Order: sequence, then structure tokens, then C-alpha cells
Amino acid sequence: MIKNLTSWVAIPEQSDFSIYNLPFGIFTEGTSTKRIGVAIGNQIADLYQIAALGYFDDLKINKEIFVNNYLNDFIDLGKPITNALRIKLQKLLSDTDSPLKNESKILVNQSEVEMHLPVRIGDYTDFYSSIEHATNVGKMFRDPENALLPNWKHLPVGYHGRSSSIIVSGQNIHRPIGQTMPPDSKTPVFKASSRMDFELEMGFIIGKNTALGQSIKTEEAENYIFGKVLFNDWSARDIQKWEYVPLGPFLGKNFASSVSPWVVTIEALEPFKVDGPKQDPAVLPYLEYRGAKNYNIHLEVGIQPRNGQENIVSNSNFKYMYWNMAQQLAHHTCNGCNVKVGDLLASGTISGKNESSYGSMLEISWSGKKPLTLSDGSKRKFIEDFDTVIMRGHCEKDGMRVGFGEVKAQILPAIN
Ligand code: CA
Repeated sequence: MIKNLTSWVAIPEQSDFSIYNLPFGIFTEGTSTKRIGVAIGNQIADLYQIAALGYFDDLKINKEIFVNNYLNDFIDLGKPITNALRIKLQKLLSDTDSPLKNESKILVNQSEVEMHLPVRIGDYTDFYSSIEHATNVGKMFRDPENALLPNWKHLPVGYHGRSSSIIVSGQNIHRPIGQTMPPDSKTPVFKASSRMDFELEMGFIIGKNTALGQSIKTEEAENYIFGKVLFNDWSARDIQKWEYVPLGPFLGKNFASSVSPWVVTIEALEPFKVDGPKQDPAVLPYLEYRGAKNYNIHLEVGIQPRNGQENIVSNSNFKYMYWNMAQQLAHHTCNGCNVKVGDLLASGTISGKNESSYGSMLEISWSGKKPLTLSDGSKRKFIEDFDTVIMRGHCEKDGMRVGFGEVKAQILPAIN
């Protein structure tokens, strides 16, 4: 990455969308058709307009690909082309004598657009890769002395989730209704969840198909990752607790998960790689990896009550992950399971060691035993109706800031 870049587009100092980032998303302006854009400061570079002016002719990309409901067709062009486009755009947006400066209609204000789900998500997998989160949950629900199950340090535990209910930031959801077994009851009841929770996660988008039977090695994993998003894996803890044995999460999870609209490329995150936690015991050879595979991405969660102030309730970091994305992908495909462009693989709740870095209300309130007091004096064990949950993430190093914007949604009352 070239350092000390500046842009002729005005970029606020603390913007997540610096010249080093250039994430991809899908936007509409008024009644326009959906188009592919790249965030820069408070603006969006309209790739269709830039392509129509001939700036990407040397990359042999048909401009019609940028009028699209999703990024999948663009991602499917492959990294040699998508990376070349991003680098070319970085030059066009930074050169002081860039011809793009004199063009009209190539930039759109973010405040004037609607953002949409960035990818058509085929399959969705959710891991459970934070040792602090898995330990906390194990302590609460099983045995404090043996919080981790015997397999946990030997493989990145995960499950197949549901993609149809993954929604973009800003889309609000109703509290789910379902079957639960209250602690003071002998028979199950059917009611609105009273333990509505968020899970602070990040997801990565698959950038290249594999054939059935093919496995991805840890050292080639990054060739198969297009980019990353913020991910809120909404969870109804009471529904989850009653239903999850023996086959795992189901209706306590699949009513909705929220993603951020901008996909930050894995290339933009390269400068922020750091070593991960030491893995002990040693992993099996197919899960071994070389070099730094974790990423220093600061993450925060805010809860905003209706008409109230936002309260930051967690400060975590993606670098805490015990299992990295390369290992997750190697494990996911070790049996020959194929992956496809647009698949979403999420990290699992990202918690750190300190209570202030826990990534779910389940952990923050310790299953409701330690309610949190918000700035308006109200208490929270879990998420209340009309609360808005906001997650943000960014990296910063040597004057370069690369961020994800936010993923947010408000919880509306259950529909009875
Ligand atoms: Ca999860």
C-alpha cells in the first residue's frame, strides 16, 4: 500500500472511508436502479458513471456490470480485475491532476442515497471462534471448571445458518416470538422473547468459487476472501436455550441478522494484520498457518434507547479471535464442501478478556444477573423494545484509517 496519499475529494479526518479504504456497496438515489458504488469520505464514487466515461476501458469491464442489485457479478470477475479497478480508482481519486476532477455526476452524497444488502448471500456459516466468548458461555450454561468443550481448541466450531433473513443496516426488526421454557415453568410457553440480544461479529464474503471436493489451504485462503463486513447476529436467548439441543441454533437465531452495507476489501485491511493468540495445544497440520492472520480492528457496540443518548456498552477487537479466517476456511472446506462467491462466513461473537469488551448482553449482564445502567438511568439485562443497537469498526495505523461505517437496527415490539 502506498502511504501518504491524499484525495481531491474532501474527506473528514475521522472518516472510515479514507483514500486507503475504498469499500464496495450497492446504492440507489431516489428511484434509480441499484448501482455499485465505492465510499470515499461522505461521498460515493458511482462506478457506472466512471465506467461510462471510459476510465475502466483498459480493464475490459462491461459498464453494465455496475448497474446491479448485488456485488456478486463484480466479485466474480476475480481479484486480478477487482483489485486493479480499486487501485486505478485510488489513483484517479488521489492524483492532483486527475481527469476525474473535471467530470460531473461521478460523486453522490451518501446522505442522499439508500444503501442495500451488498451481496446476494448464498450460504451463511457462523463460527464460534472467540475463546473469551466460548468460555463465558460455557461458564454460564455448563461447568465453570470446564467451560470449553473438548473439541473447542482443536477445530473452529461452527454451524450452517440461514441467509434469507440477513438484512442490511437500517432495516428494523420485530422482537421474535417463539417457544421457551421459563425457569419457573414445567411446560413450555409460546410468547415474545424476553431475552433479546445482539452478537458483535464480523463476516467475510467469499470471492472465488471452489469445486465440490476441493479444499482450501490456510496459505491460499486470502485468495478466496473478497472482503469483510460488520455483522450483528441477533439472538433470542430464551428461545435458543430451549431449542438448541441436540442440533444447535435454529429459530433463536434465524429471525434476522444485520450486516453493514460497505464491503471492505481484504486488501485494504492488509496493513492492519497482527499475530493472533498462541494456540495451545498445537493444531492438526491442515489448520497450521504461517505469518500474521489476525487483524487489529477496533469494534464498539452502542445501545440507544428511544429518544435517548447512545451508550457505548462494549469496546472489543477482531484481533482477539482464537481461530483466524484462514483456519475457518481451511476447516470449512477440508471435507470437500464447496464455497461460492457471495457466501458469508461470520466469526462468532467477538469478546475480549475484560468485561468492557464482551460482545453480547448475555455476557455483559452475565445472563441477566448484573444489569447494565444506561445514561438515562434505565437498566438493561437484554435489549428492550425501541432500543437501537449500533456496531462500528475501524483500523488505524501510521495515519491510515480504514473503517466499516456502522450496522444498526431498532428492535420493534413483537407482532402479536
Ligand atoms: Ca453468532
